[in-house]
Amino acid sequence: MNDDAVRAQWNRVRGRLRDEFGEAAFKSWLNPLTLADVRNGQVRICVPTRFLRDWVVTHYGDRIRTLWSKENAAINGVDIVVLPTSGAKPNAAANEPTAGKAPPPATLLPPCEPTAASEEIGAPLDPRYRFDNFVVGKPNEFAYAAARRVAESDTVSFNPLFLYGGVGLGKTHLMHAVAWHIRERNPRRSVIYLSAEKFMYRFVRALRFQDTMAFKEQFRSVDVLMIDDVQFIGGKDSTQEEFFHTFNSLVDQGRQIIISADKSPSDLQGMEERLRSRLGCGLVADIHATSYELRLGIIGAKAEQMGVEVPRKVAEFLAHKITSNVRELEGALNRVVAHAQLVGRDITLESTQEVLHDLLRANDRRITIEEIQKKVAEHFNIRLADMHSARRARQVARPRQVAMYLAKQLTSRSLPEIGRKFGGRDHTTVMHAVKKVEELRDADSSFDEDIELLRRMLET
Ligand code: ADP
Ligand code: MG
Repeated sequence: MNDDAVRAQWNRVRGRLRDEFGEAAFKSWLNPLTLADVRNGQVRICVPTRFLRDWVVTHYGDRIRTLWSKENAAINGVDIVVLPTSGAKPNAAANEPTAGKAPPPATLLPPCEPTAASEEIGAPLDPRYRFDNFVVGKPNEFAYAAARRVAESDTVSFNPLFLYGGVGLGKTHLMHAVAWHIRERNPRRSVIYLSAEKFMYRFVRALRFQDTMAFKEQFRSVDVLMIDDVQFIGGKDSTQEEFFHTFNSLVDQGRQIIISADKSPSDLQGMEERLRSRLGCGLVADIHATSYELRLGIIGAKAEQMGVEVPRKVAEFLAHKITSNVRELEGALNRVVAHAQLVGRDITLESTQEVLHDLLRANDRRITIEEIQKKVAEHFNIRLADMHSARRARQVARPRQVAMYLAKQLTSRSLPEIGRKFGGRDHTTVMHAVKKVEELRDADSSFDEDIELLRRMLET
């Protein structure tokens, strides 16, 4: 195949592209393409930037390949590679003979360094955050299922997927897992993950350098955009505006968006109404506070990953005591394991209590009697003052007993101390309350569930 013939073919391909996509698109995206060489039936085309490469591959890749194979039946692949134009010698190798060689494997468009553009705009992914090490339980099963669904489907199922939940409950883990999954399954889909803060930072920088066009284009050309901790965008009007437009344009193009926040869309502070409602119009999945069972499962899974033996008793103790979130639970387990390895002893309940001394105290301190009183009063719809009052009517006395019971269960206060907090009652009154509630829990399953619910709410 001689050089001139190839060149003529390339010119015809360019002509067709110009006709099909129009002058404006051609000028912006296709004109910068230069032919590098044709080797072994493989055409190499150069573009000056990664961004342009990704854009061209996504939007025009298939068409370029088809046009080339129409022009020249010997061509079975097109590579679009990044090569800065200045100083490069794009067609240095154009004369290489191609005849007589075995056809190369049919890798068509670049098995490109898949994440080129994503790395530039997005943040790196944590290799530990995968679906297969995400422990699923009641509190997160819905969010997990939704994330999996998005990761596995090539079409947009719900847009956006809005994940929300308290800190340390696995939002970032799930988002990274989606990104890994997509990148592995289909490296050509561009997935960008970044924090809302980083998004804001980039936007402000683009404003300063008067480069907002490029900023927009970068985000508008991705297949899957994930923005983490979007509550940070609240209150920043111009960023919100930009976010809103980027968001709309991606949704209109059928691109998938995944958002996380610490609150539901309707509770996001400082967020414009139209943005809030737009954020909530896909699938909203919340990750609830961990349950005892989930915490136990997570400890088991992490211990296994670390290859250490954690006695059942210790696992149960941790699951019981470290209730705030998974991050803290992980941290506690790591400390216990590290300590055991350092001193060369087995993990025991005693060593665990010792090592986690400070953490346990902090967790203990977390629940106060005042908090319990407040929650219980709310739950039973009585006045907070009735926790201290002398009223004995059943509808206030029972909740008061429940609060005393929970205070005994959830804090390390003594019976007299608890009594004092309930309007200066005697410790025998508290003791009686505890017994009464225990009896009722045994006898009445709906009451039992009610108390369990309260306990969980307070514990997390
Ligand atoms: P968030 O983004 O919601 O604040 P992260 O995703 O950063 O929380 O999770 C905090 C830590 O807890 C991470 O190390 C993560 O791997 C771990 N984690 C959270 N949920 C789970 C889970 N269900 N299974 C395993 N690890 C989890
Ligand atoms: Mg996070």
